[in-house]
Amino acid sequence: MFLGAPGSGKGTQSEFVAQKYNIPTISTGTIIRKSIKSGTKTGKLAESYVSKGELIPDNIICGMLLERLAESDCNNGYILDGFPRNITQAQALVEAGIEPDIVVNIEADDEMIVNRLGGRRVCPNCEASYHVSDNAPQKDGICDKCGTELITRIDDKPEVILKRLKVYHAQTEPLIDFYGKKNKLMNVVSQKTVAGTAKLISDGLEKLIET
Ligand code: AMP
Repeated sequence: MFLGAPGSGKGTQSEFVAQKYNIPTISTGTIIRKSIKSGTKTGKLAESYVSKGELIPDNIICGMLLERLAESDCNNGYILDGFPRNITQAQALVEAGIEPDIVVNIEADDEMIVNRLGGRRVCPNCEASYHVSDNAPQKDGICDKCGTELITRIDDKPEVILKRLKVYHAQTEPLIDFYGKKNKLMNVVSQKTVAGTAKLISDGLEKLIET
């Protein structure tokens, strides 16, 4: 499981780990963006929360997640990215008999987050994530992986970024203590470069898996 503020690098870093251990990353943010794109009733409802930087109600998101985890590609393990976002969601996992083996908490201060999210550009097709200055695509505004034109996420507007940070501190941050008490936590300080953070996570996980 990956914990951390929006923009701390959870999505990017969890993908590296997923590739290394050959397991899928299950990102509730990605599931939600797909449902918004599909224009269904649930998608429209989800959009009203996402666009304001608010969390989607627990009953909706928990149902979506548990349905996804029942798919066969999750049989040999998976990485959770963006779930749980509050204690109620963490309890829903406990009730479903799901206990994370390791919780990676990426620490990043608010200034870094505002800069990261403000400059973030994402691919609407494959969800690859870039930053205008720190992790720029090879060709300006174009995804390196699939050639699609990059966009700014609806929730990466300045006023929405501040709201998401507020929600993070009030609702998600208590999970650090929740998993700390269960001795599951591996804290990693976000580095200036994506590769620097990836190395810390990779080394830390190897050590934990060996023991
Ligand atoms: P993310 O891509 O993880 O930053 O998620 C984008 C947005 O989707 C969040 O700001 C929330 O509005 C919504 N979202 C994602 N995961 C959850 C969750 N576990 N619970 C509630 N809302 C979520």
